[in-house]
Amino acid sequence: MAIASINPTTGDVIQNFTALSEQELTTAVAQAQAAFESYRHTTFEERASWMLKAAALLVAHREDYARLMTLEMGKPITEAIAEVEKSAWVCRFYAENAETFLSQESIATDAHHSYVTYHPLGAILAVMPWNFPFWQVFRFAAPALMAGNVGLLKHASNVPQCALKIAEIFQAAGFPAQVFQTLLIGADQIAPLISDPRIKAATLTGSEPAGMSLAQASGHELKKVVLELGGSDPFIVLESADIASAAETAAKARMINNGQSCVAAKRFIVAESVADEFTEKFIAQLQHWKIGDPFDATTQLGPLATEKILLELDQQVQTAVEHGAKILLGGTSLKDSPELPASIRSGYYYPPTVLTRITPHNPAFVQEFFGPVALVFTVKDITEAIKLANATPFGLAASAWTNDPQEQIQLIRDLEAGAVFINGLVKSDPRLPFGGIKRSGFGRELGRPGILEFVNIKTVWIK
Ligand code: NAP
Repeated sequence: MAIASINPTTGDVIQNFTALSEQELTTAVAQAQAAFESYRHTTFEERASWMLKAAALLVAHREDYARLMTLEMGKPITEAIAEVEKSAWVCRFYAENAETFLSQESIATDAHHSYVTYHPLGAILAVMPWNFPFWQVFRFAAPALMAGNVGLLKHASNVPQCALKIAEIFQAAGFPAQVFQTLLIGADQIAPLISDPRIKAATLTGSEPAGMSLAQASGHELKKVVLELGGSDPFIVLESADIASAAETAAKARMINNGQSCVAAKRFIVAESVADEFTEKFIAQLQHWKIGDPFDATTQLGPLATEKILLELDQQVQTAVEHGAKILLGGTSLKDSPELPASIRSGYYYPPTVLTRITPHNPAFVQEFFGPVALVFTVKDITEAIKLANATPFGLAASAWTNDPQEQIQLIRDLEAGAVFINGLVKSDPRLPFGGIKRSGFGRELGRPGILEFVNIKTVWIK
């Protein structure tokens, strides 16, 4: 994929970028290693002061950074501003908590003194997606840098300006040179990079194929890897739920980030006794979702990030329909549609779409829909709901709606997911670990588990 900024709202190419040469890449890795040799000796206090400065810069320039994200990948500007603020939050969170999370722990043994201490590993490679161009990077970088590691970012090829801006922010915050570097490289340059002994570990947020490729390269080199991959999260609504509130949250959960979030609710699994009421209220919400220019603060649904995503989503919906799915809302690409204002008609727009009657033989049954497309299923009871929720290769997160305490216990115990949210919208939070099971990946980001992923947990035994 060429490294380029293309405005998805208009299809205009803003700027093309050249990938680093092999020589430039080798130099960057050497600089990262050199930076690590001194950075590892900095104190938590020093790192925290730079991280807090990064947070302050994010807050001070939130509108500029938000505009950059909206320009490159089309998210509604209000969501982009919230994303910059959340990125500042994760910087503050680790600035304030890293030292406690990584403080030495004494453990009584036959030694005079034995304890566990946490040391940084070195240069960590982060391969990141375009959908939350700031948040995904900061949630990796804040714990990694606070632990004393140095970061190398290979961002998605369609958000190069965001990628460069993030490196500038760390530099302006006072972090020593080359402690955080952006590498403008293609996906084909990752495997050779992983084989460089100066790269100690890697993390990837993205699709299954990308995760498999990085895991394979890292496995070959026996290097640690954390993977945050796709999801087809269930949103379960049972009889005792507050249906109006569930339907309102369901619409937000599906539409966030123009439908392109790993933890967006994608499969709506509803008890038959409340299915008609829920579906009616859910569709009523989506019918009024405001589609438009993502720079307009009242817009709720902007374009998809790239033309390829639009074409793939459209194809997925058509295939689902060919296999018997019924369209309850939307279902046709809006690209070049006269329904849109002329200024954005060539943008990559897809409308809120609801599909139902998806059988296990339909390819849609096990696919992730990375756009504003909801799949609605009706089930008899909680047992059937859990079975259907788990009938996917993914296991990222789940949202379940019921006011019955016994049902809540059963859902928490039996849903195969890295997180279960009861009567609420699934969202990441710096204080809580985040990650999946099954084909959604392994390892955790955020919370204390997040900072422990890229440290040497060193055992010390003194006679
Ligand atoms: P993607 O194609 O996998 O891209 C993500 C990153 O991986 C990009 O930097 C990309 O570089 C790189 N990449 C692509 N192919 C690669 C390969 N073979 N080897 C190594 N790296 C490779 O992901 P996407 O389709 O843009 O993003 C959407 C996916 O990410 C969805 O499945 C979504 O659910 C998932 N996601 C998961 C989380 C989570 O936390 N679990 C969060 C956000 C998104 P190029 O851009 O240069 O190709």
